[in-house]
Amino acid sequence: ADAGRRGESPAVALSIAGTDSGGGAGMTADVRAFAACGVHGAVAVTAVTVQNSLGVSDVHEVPPDVVAAQIRTVAGDMGVDAAKTGMLATRSIIEAVVAACDEVGIGVTGSTPFVVDPVAASMSGSPLLADDALDAVRTELLPRATLVTPNLDEIALLVGVKVVDEASAREAAAALHALGAAAVLVKGGHLEASSGRPQQECVDLLSVDGEVHEFRSPRLDRPHTHGGGDSLASAITAGLARGMSLVDAVGLGKEFITRAVEHSYPLGAGHGPVRAMP
Ligand code: PLP
Repeated sequence: ADAGRRGESPAVALSIAGTDSGGGAGMTADVRAFAACGVHGAVAVTAVTVQNSLGVSDVHEVPPDVVAAQIRTVAGDMGVDAAKTGMLATRSIIEAVVAACDEVGIGVTGSTPFVVDPVAASMSGSPLLADDALDAVRTELLPRATLVTPNLDEIALLVGVKVVDEASAREAAAALHALGAAAVLVKGGHLEASSGRPQQECVDLLSVDGEVHEFRSPRLDRPHTHGGGDSLASAITAGLARGMSLVDAVGLGKEFITRAVEHSYPLGAGHGPVRAMP
């Protein structure tokens, strides 16, 4: 899809995620990343978070049938070229999302690529997923995922593997494949070297079709990385919506997030967001 041509419809990416009133993370970050990557962003809001740069102070879940209705009504009109999930909040929202996605062909049982970012908590530690919903992520979401993009904490929660090096990253990927994920991106950005010092590079491993691809970028030490994970998964989703291969879409995502962290900005008294740049 040539997103820029006048009068032509761009590809459509759908974010199934929570809002952030501070405009840093969640669905707000997703839509910015979609726009920067040349696709139209549609949204199915799962939860409203009361949030600023200091953290999340309250969460209001959207009724599951309203979440499902947003997915159906977008897919039935403009079509969805790729979808991603972020904050899903509860087990019943996950079940509603899965049912609606199955109906409209989102996920590996259909034809629309489906990126699952298994968001469990915010950087500041606020839970964004109920404890009893983790199992639904394992049994309902992962078997439908074209790609799952966990960080190291989410890997520990989902499969109990502590990733400390490449061997354990491969072990984590295998465990997530065993739960049904077609492809796994192990995000090594928060990995500390065994010396306890931060690594010089962010190394992400993509495991797909029996092969492991390595994506490296210089490690940028920036305090303002709010919404970074959401933005990476969204840029990958945008690439898939535009018809890229998974490996190319992850490459696009990695370049996008490196630029976005490099140009992140202070905002408020806490953590500012990454900056979506074309
Ligand atoms: N708020 C919402 C709605 C999110 O979806 C997320 C992450 O996915 C966050 C906050 C946390 O973002 P961060 O951990 O980058 O601060």
